[in-house]
Amino acid sequence: MSDYIIAIDQGTTSSRAVLYDRQLSPQASCNEELPLSYPQTGWVEQDPEVIWQSVLNCIRQLLQQNGIQAKQVAALALTNQRETTLLWDKKTGKTLYPAIVWQDRRTADLCQELKQKHEDSIRAKTGLLADPYFSATKLQWLLEHLPDARNRAESGELCFGTIDSFLLWRLTDGKVHATEASNASRTLLFNIHQQQWDQELLQLFAIPAAVLPQVHDSAGDFGCCNTELFNHPIPIVSLLGDQQAALLGQACVEPGMLKSTYGTGCFAMVNTGAKALHSKHQLLTTVAWRLKGECSYALEGSIFMAGATVQWLRDKLGIIQQASETETLANGVDYQQSELLIPAFTGLGAPYWQPKVQAALFGLSRNSGREEICAAALRSVAYQTQDLLLAMEKDGITIADIRVDGGMTVNRWFLQALADLTQHSISQSKISDATAFGTAFLAAWQLGWFSTLDAIQPLWQSAAQFTPQLNPEQQSICYQNWSSAIDRLLAEPPRDQ
Ligand code: ADP
Repeated sequence: MSDYIIAIDQGTTSSRAVLYDRQLSPQASCNEELPLSYPQTGWVEQDPEVIWQSVLNCIRQLLQQNGIQAKQVAALALTNQRETTLLWDKKTGKTLYPAIVWQDRRTADLCQELKQKHEDSIRAKTGLLADPYFSATKLQWLLEHLPDARNRAESGELCFGTIDSFLLWRLTDGKVHATEASNASRTLLFNIHQQQWDQELLQLFAIPAAVLPQVHDSAGDFGCCNTELFNHPIPIVSLLGDQQAALLGQACVEPGMLKSTYGTGCFAMVNTGAKALHSKHQLLTTVAWRLKGECSYALEGSIFMAGATVQWLRDKLGIIQQASETETLANGVDYQQSELLIPAFTGLGAPYWQPKVQAALFGLSRNSGREEICAAALRSVAYQTQDLLLAMEKDGITIADIRVDGGMTVNRWFLQALADLTQHSISQSKISDATAFGTAFLAAWQLGWFSTLDAIQPLWQSAAQFTPQLNPEQQSICYQNWSSAIDRLLAEPPRDQ
């Protein structure tokens, strides 16, 4: 009997495989860190072969270390970093260029031009904005800069895909070139209302239809793994973008339920049900999942630097050796602190969408030391979250409780700051891998282990709750200082990078 599901979470900083039993209790996991490279200012790339190997290693190690045979695995469930763009040769499966990672800003100028002329129609069709974050201009860049790529793409020799499509292609040994609706909804090429690739957008971005994957429901038959990989053709039955998987993994299945994930970036997402709510405040409308042809939508605020700000403290500033030190260092720093960090290291995402703005540290004094900078860094993530929540409220969302997950949420000082600076209660789930859990649940649902999506609700339990300790007047002063600092930064003319 096939008793297990393996969920793969292919993230920006690591790949992870988690083994679940029939009750969806996690049994074991394997993790492999991944490097990023920054070949030029604003460019962010990853080696696709390293990504692929890391996924294989994680699955193989998970099986080996736990004495599980592949035939005991009923299904593979995938979730992935979104928007990251790949182009590969249909015959050989070889990629033509490194993966251009979602954080990459190389197409900022191109997006600026598009913004002026086409922003409204892009927004109406895709729910997104003209920003380098999404895949379309990345793909356009590849087709324009790689020798012969456009010709070869037009004649059907090349495949485009986000990480999900690439992994699916490799796992099925080139038999399946597909994606699903939540990942497709992040490309800028997919009409989220008609649920198909949009001809006008393909023209606008000069993308030949022949490179595109087929778009499936988020759960279904995605093919089987090539037998040689694990000695058994494990079926792949669910695929979901990582933030959508976290939304499901946090059991936010009812409209109005909200989660916020703090990994490399921060992504706050609220389920809006069958309604694609169009934001008037610079948030994104996106597909949460599509099941049996029926779409659930979500409203999303994306911030590019959350945990990555902590990495900057460690890797570039060198004031900490481990992310966890920020908690102890920040501990004594009260809300009177004058230091404010705006971590616009890769521009600003929602609700500002300013790809060229650069980071700044305001309010330094002779007393500013690593403690204050750590506190300012952690608080910057809370302030940015507040920016998103305010935009959501202006769009008509009523926010109750915020369910949080992601690598940064082990930091209790940060979670208290989040409660204080947003004035909302913050709930931490007992489930540590919400992203992997979300796609695993979808696989279990597809296999018939659960009959409804609602069945995920009782599986969610609160591990800890943080309520605001800061009084609203003080919070308001703090947030005003943050907003003024943002205004100062946005008023500066962009420097050439
Ligand atoms: P991703 O899925 O984007 O790869 P993860 O959810 O694995 O990211 O989270 C990794 C991030 O969490 C890193 O950017 C790291 O800096 C941050 N992080 C990990 N531990 C802590 C901590 N104790 N305090 C603050 N940030 C942390």
